Amino acid sequence: MRKQDISNIKHLLATPKRIVIVPHKNPDGDAIGSSLGLYLYLVKLNHEVSIIAPNDYPDFLKWMPQERIIIKYESQRELSNSLIENSELIFTLDFNALHRTGEMETPLQNSKGIKIMIDHHQQPDGYARFMYSDIRMSSTCEMVYNFIGDLGESKLIDKDIATCLYTGIMTDTGSFRFPSTSSKTHIVISDLLEKGANNAEIHNAIYDTNSPERLQLLGCALRNLKVLPHLKTAYIMLSQEELNNFNFKKGDTEGFVNYGLSIENIIFAAIFIEHKQEGIIKISFRSKGNFSVNEFARAHFNGGGHTNAAGGKSDLNLKDTVDKFITILPSYKNALNL
Ligand code: 5GP
Ligand code: MN
Repeated sequence: MRKQDISNIKHLLATPKRIVIVPHKNPDGDAIGSSLGLYLYLVKLNHEVSIIAPNDYPDFLKWMPQERIIIKYESQRELSNSLIENSELIFTLDFNALHRTGEMETPLQNSKGIKIMIDHHQQPDGYARFMYSDIRMSSTCEMVYNFIGDLGESKLIDKDIATCLYTGIMTDTGSFRFPSTSSKTHIVISDLLEKGANNAEIHNAIYDTNSPERLQLLGCALRNLKVLPHLKTAYIMLSQEELNNFNFKKGDTEGFVNYGLSIENIIFAAIFIEHKQEGIIKISFRSKGNFSVNEFARAHFNGGGHTNAAGGKSDLNLKDTVDKFITILPSYKNALNL
């Protein structure tokens, strides 16, 4: 973060403030980890802090320190609106466009709270007074670690804060294997372990709490996998009926899209998941190398994200969405290095 911004924020944080922390809709490990890590830090400075998530998140994130204090906008609107309206500072974490908070967009826009963005996605919007935006960062959690360090207060990072930040770095880097993992990321991780984060316990809590139904749903997804070798692409479709058959719960499909990328010579993978209630198909894109799924998702599926991981949605039905995808693909022959 810029020196001038840090010194201005330090000044703002010098006296107790009413603060709201907001992660993006459908928050993941990095969104929840960074929100809780920052929350625990700000509480130590005697601020009055709330975390308001737009909606619920998977059970595998519900063990995190102080997770229970997170307010969900979708079920606690009145309380949320009043906290947002009366806030003096608003931290927006792990997203860079207010529409990524769904229905919170308008109350956030209308609030006089000073907005501080901490985020690592591409093409940030300009809604924040202070922006710490860096697409080279592995995760927002790594940035929250840097932010606390820039404020000169690394010593306040205790075991709980370290646990939250470790979790988000681990989930956003695919357990430290994605290209976004830098030597600096490992130095941060080393310090978080030093401060008490337990890597084995955290990994277990996130990844080894499968239900049998989730594994059976994975089996179904893998049976549905289609490979287009001439386009170096693989994709999966999951209908609402298939989700219902395996008692789908939020988070159950997390990571499924990566299986397509594990096939030899495949550099582009997608998963299309039908959500009948919302009336949309939710799409995840992943790639290897230079092929930008951020650009692809923005251009065709009302989404965005990073070069190698992005998401989007479609109002068409499942079959038409996939047909659209297959029709577009050949125009990306060059980008896919074919
Ligand atoms: P996932 O596929 O795991 O939902 O998301 C992959 C990445 O793309 C994440 O960094 C996520 O924040 C971003 N992303 C997912 N869905 C959307 C979307 O609809 N719009 C934008 N702008 N980014 C998204
Ligand atoms: Mn992230």
